Amino acid sequence: IIATIGPATEDKIPELLASGVNGVRLNLSHNTHAWHAKIIDKVRTAAKKLDRSVAIMWDLQGPKIRVGEVEGLIEVKAGDEIKFAEVSNGMSPEGVLPIQYNIAPHVKVGDRIMIRDGVITTEVTKVQNGVVTVKAKNAGKFGSNHGVNLPDTIFHGSKLTEKDMEDVRFGLARDIDYIVLSFVHTAEDIDTLRAMIKKRKKKVRIITKIETKPATENLHSIMMASDVVMIARGDLALETSPEQVPIIGRKIIEMGREYKTPVIMATQMLESMTSSPSPTRAEANDVATAVSLGVDAVMLSGETAIGAFAVDAVAMMKRIILSTEQYMRDSGDLTMLSRDLNATDNAQSAVAMAALTLANHVGAQLILAETVSGATAQSISSLRPDAAIIMASPDVQVCNQLAIIWGSKPYKVPRRRYIQARLVKSLVHKGALKSGDYVVSAFGTHAGKTGATDTVRLLVA
Ligand code: PGA
Ligand code: MN
Repeated sequence: IIATIGPATEDKIPELLASGVNGVRLNLSHNTHAWHAKIIDKVRTAAKKLDRSVAIMWDLQGPKIRVGEVEGLIEVKAGDEIKFAEVSNGMSPEGVLPIQYNIAPHVKVGDRIMIRDGVITTEVTKVQNGVVTVKAKNAGKFGSNHGVNLPDTIFHGSKLTEKDMEDVRFGLARDIDYIVLSFVHTAEDIDTLRAMIKKRKKKVRIITKIETKPATENLHSIMMASDVVMIARGDLALETSPEQVPIIGRKIIEMGREYKTPVIMATQMLESMTSSPSPTRAEANDVATAVSLGVDAVMLSGETAIGAFAVDAVAMMKRIILSTEQYMRDSGDLTMLSRDLNATDNAQSAVAMAALTLANHVGAQLILAETVSGATAQSISSLRPDAAIIMASPDVQVCNQLAIIWGSKPYKVPRRRYIQARLVKSLVHKGALKSGDYVVSAFGTHAGKTGATDTVRLLVA
């Protein structure tokens, strides 16, 4: 479970973690750097107290295009023409409305431009001297700062704004685990951010939000370039259509497992709990559906950022997840998820598959993935095994990153060889394993080397 932090939860982080949150999302569209830095500290302190790994996700605002400063509300009728141009000095020529982004080089005649989160649909009729003329398809009103979506337009090259760059620099100097990239169009956008992270010698990973139409057309390259993807249904519905969102979501989930790219389902999952103590039946169903389709994580936005029942929303989500997963185990649906995957595309996956096969044959309680970079653990997780997966890594940040991966139980271990026997003993001691239980362990004989998992071993507790 991922929870967005906001005014409703800034002082409730221990409660959120205790109720089942594995990752926290900081939304850079709101609040100051000082506020975000304070939240990072609070999360780390609370996680330490609970002895838990928690992923901190730094969600950039991205190039959300908005209408500039206009006076009052502008009313249009179907067929009306509107002219837009980016204006830097705040003054726009007669009859031209300001827009907070220079869209002229990117749009072409016939492209749709949606104003005010889709309230008014328009179509581009002319592009000249930086001025874009559109024709309204329906009547409506819009004003300053209203969102503008361009579902038909591909922006080539990186679209990191000045603000995004500043936010990236600030975030990379802090203890964050993931940067979340908004409004991605092509894999190039991800490469640009990856280069910034690499230059600062950080191991922060990238979550790509799929929320534009071009992104849905570039899924293969985006999946390969991303560490994790998020189905960001809010903007995605505006850029495509509400009826396409479930289908695109399914496609992303299927591809995610094929590419071993974890998937997060986001937006409005328990929306009504923003102001109500219980979810609608449809919302409960939505969470259960996401779980049964095999997503890695489900996310809460307004529910936890500004909601009146933030902690209850997390507890409710957790109950729905547990009940759905129990059913999946009992009914064999989980095994179906692991069977339909051809995982042996490289040596790493083959070892993961061998661990899973062994675990299934002996009915192991636990798979122990000793992992340096997290790759072994992620490979095993993508197979959706029945047994719990302990992901043991000597790297704290890898443990935190793994916290939002399917079935993960990250475990920070010392950087030395053969920790299995000791770990199994301590799990028996804690009551997590009984004497005589089987544990399958996957590890590299060259401990500490990334991507060198070459051994599968059967242990008896
Ligand atoms: P947002 O992204 O909450 O930052 O807009 C999620 C979405 O669009 O669904
Ligand atoms: Mn969005």
